[in-house]
Amino acid sequence: MISQVLPFRVNEYVLSSLIDWTNIPDDPIFQLVFPQPGMLSIEDEKRLSVLSGDPANKLQLRETVQDIRSRLNPHPSGQKELNVPRLDGVELAGMQHKYRETVLYFPGQGQTCHAYCTYCFRWAQFVGDADLKFAAPDPSQLVEYLKAHPQVTDVLVTGGDPMVMSTERLRSHLEPLLAIDSVRTIRIGTKSVAYWPQRFVTDQDADEVLWLFEKIVDSGRNLAVMGHFSHPRELETDIARRALQRIRSTGALVYGQAPLIGRVNDDADAWAELWRRELGAGVVPYYMFVERDTGPHDYFKVPLAQAVGIFQAAYRQLPGLARTVRGPVMSAKPGKVAVDGIEDTPQGKFFQLRLLQARDPELVGRPFRAHFSETASWVDELELAETTPADIRAAVQGI
Ligand code: SF4
Repeated sequence: MISQVLPFRVNEYVLSSLIDWTNIPDDPIFQLVFPQPGMLSIEDEKRLSVLSGDPANKLQLRETVQDIRSRLNPHPSGQKELNVPRLDGVELAGMQHKYRETVLYFPGQGQTCHAYCTYCFRWAQFVGDADLKFAAPDPSQLVEYLKAHPQVTDVLVTGGDPMVMSTERLRSHLEPLLAIDSVRTIRIGTKSVAYWPQRFVTDQDADEVLWLFEKIVDSGRNLAVMGHFSHPRELETDIARRALQRIRSTGALVYGQAPLIGRVNDDADAWAELWRRELGAGVVPYYMFVERDTGPHDYFKVPLAQAVGIFQAAYRQLPGLARTVRGPVMSAKPGKVAVDGIEDTPQGKFFQLRLLQARDPELVGRPFRAHFSETASWVDELELAETTPADIRAAVQGI
């Protein structure tokens, strides 16, 4: 029933190699991919249940599903309105330009995943509603945009998961970028090493994809595979480790990132183990994100106060080389807001915050504070300290 509203997909590898079936329903990977009771409100579950029972209610069911989706904040952080690039006044499909140096590109054929994460902040991409979807049919508009904006050095190819595409398709999206000198880094956001490592090892065109990676590296650019790893188990299998070896053998760099999710990885020891395994496999630990305010957020959310504690307890266990990781970080409207810690002062308790990335480059790296809250789980639930500089206050409160 819940999968009528939220997308559901799983594959044989996840079922047979990642889920511990002796620990259902608490198993973290089971929670990661299988929709659960409680992800929707009791009222919404009831409405769906009543309507699903009778085929005569088909139209009403469809309207109810649309209504529930629209209340689940399908495009968090203003992605749909704020980040749409324009060329000659025309909005460009399948792209976002939020930070000066980076453009996100959503190749049309890469807007699915090998399996779907129940918490996915891009869930709206997968529910078959064209209005909720970003997708570019080909890179021609991207190329024109990049030519007109030489300050863009990084293109993040994302989805969905671009690695669901055949190598031939992927090549058709990536090779045109190699003709643009100002593009210095191509990033590929993917969860395929976790959900389908065969993509780089045994798939029919696995070798070809590695040759494509080599070609990008040989062009003198950085190729960064932004690997989405949620739990240390995803790096336990031989084939996942083999996939990482093969990717790294092309000269590509691999970074690890994931959100902190209740019932999946809200555990400091799990994060410490994940980052140690990443380091051991040559993956640079990069971000622990805060779960975004979208989809079944209430089911998965972890309050910021708890998130800081988990991050710090995990970080303390790491060798220096794994302390490349940053977190917990909110990808919010003004930019990436890191919660650096909690400060107890004579004036009260505060969160120490910092913009790691911002629409306005002048704000990057500057610390600020918000009053402590036990329950706040997103930046818009925080009350900024009275001393917050006006420009930061304006950016953050524009949320
Ligand atoms: S792999 Fe990424 S894009 Fe795909 S469902 Fe999971 S979080 Fe969403």
